[in-house]
Amino acid sequence: MTRCAGRIKSAWLRSAFYSPNLNKYSFMGAITSSLTMEEKAMDDLKQLLKKLVEATGPPGHEENVRNVVKEELADYVDEMKVDNLGNLICTKKGARDSPKAMILAHLDEIGMLVRYVEKEGFVRFSYLGGFFDQMVLGQRVLIHTEKGELRGVIGSVPPHLLPEEQLKKPVKRDKMFIDIGANSREQAEEWGVKVGTPITWLGHFDELGNNLVTGKAFDNRAGCAVMVQTLKEVKAECTIIGVASVMEEVGLRGAQTSSFTVDPDFAIALDITATGDHPGVEERQMPVKIGNGPAITVADGRRESLGGGIISHPKVIKLLTETAEKNHIPYQLEIFEGGTTDATAAATSRGGIPAATINIPTRYVHSPIEVLDLEDLSKGVQLLKLSLENAHKYF
Ligand SMILES: [Zn+2]
Repeated sequence: MTRCAGRIKSAWLRSAFYSPNLNKYSFMGAITSSLTMEEKAMDDLKQLLKKLVEATGPPGHEENVRNVVKEELADYVDEMKVDNLGNLICTKKGARDSPKAMILAHLDEIGMLVRYVEKEGFVRFSYLGGFFDQMVLGQRVLIHTEKGELRGVIGSVPPHLLPEEQLKKPVKRDKMFIDIGANSREQAEEWGVKVGTPITWLGHFDELGNNLVTGKAFDNRAGCAVMVQTLKEVKAECTIIGVASVMEEVGLRGAQTSSFTVDPDFAIALDITATGDHPGVEERQMPVKIGNGPAITVADGRRESLGGGIISHPKVIKLLTETAEKNHIPYQLEIFEGGTTDATAAATSRGGIPAATINIPTRYVHSPIEVLDLEDLSKGVQLLKLSLENAHKYF
């Protein structure tokens, strides 16, 4: 009780300082355990996201993240198995076998592979997933060798030594290299660096103002956090299969095989989407903003045609939007013209699976400093949980 009282006070002071949104609570309201519980739930979600983000998992090497999800869900699901590709498939039995809902969150983050080691010991790399060269230069990385982790920095020729005309151009990947401190190819090899050694950002999880957090791999540990938290809390009539999928960033590979195996009645993918709430993007180009609730994807794909993506199934959209409206959960409808998610692979599996995506709005996607709002994450959990609890009325 004593600890609790102290906590209420600091919670009130913190919320008064950081969260003008919490004005909806009266002062008296703040001195109730409900705000404390709300704050505690938000803190738990933040810790879960941090734990997931601090694990590393480039495509094809998702084991560390998979282990975190396994450990988190061990006491909350009835069955867990890892398939041949590395997908973790978790079953939470409902009151009935059908409908069978599949939720998908990819474990992998964009990463790199060692492609070549220069005779002076510098490392050249290939990308696994969609990188923006400008976000790569000057970053710190971890090289995951069989002998342990090495640190490195991504260097290139400094401006002082570049020809004048090069100064105006972005530096491309083929002009970059990783400096691990080795003084020869032999030494780098001795340290365990070889062709195919995986590489990830050395990203630092941190807090900004107004419930915003920053770090690497929010794409897609945000989706993993929503899935884990939902599977912990949900009590549904339908049976839920949570799939922590592999190799999404290189072509939805894990979702493709797991959708075939699970053969669900419908699927919901959990991922992140880019936002237009910062300088340089016009609202009409990308109206999704962080802080306005999770985004429900109506369609996505390539910019010119929305080819290669999904046209979400109207029944899944109906389930999600009606649940959000009934429960006063804020949400944003989006058409994303710049990529797709695991829902696309699910939708065209077997005889076709009704599918859609819940996306957590995220700034600076595919960089080591992605930014999201914990409030959106928490609303994402609410939306998914209540939709799954409602799903037997729709499927
Ligand atoms: Zn991504």
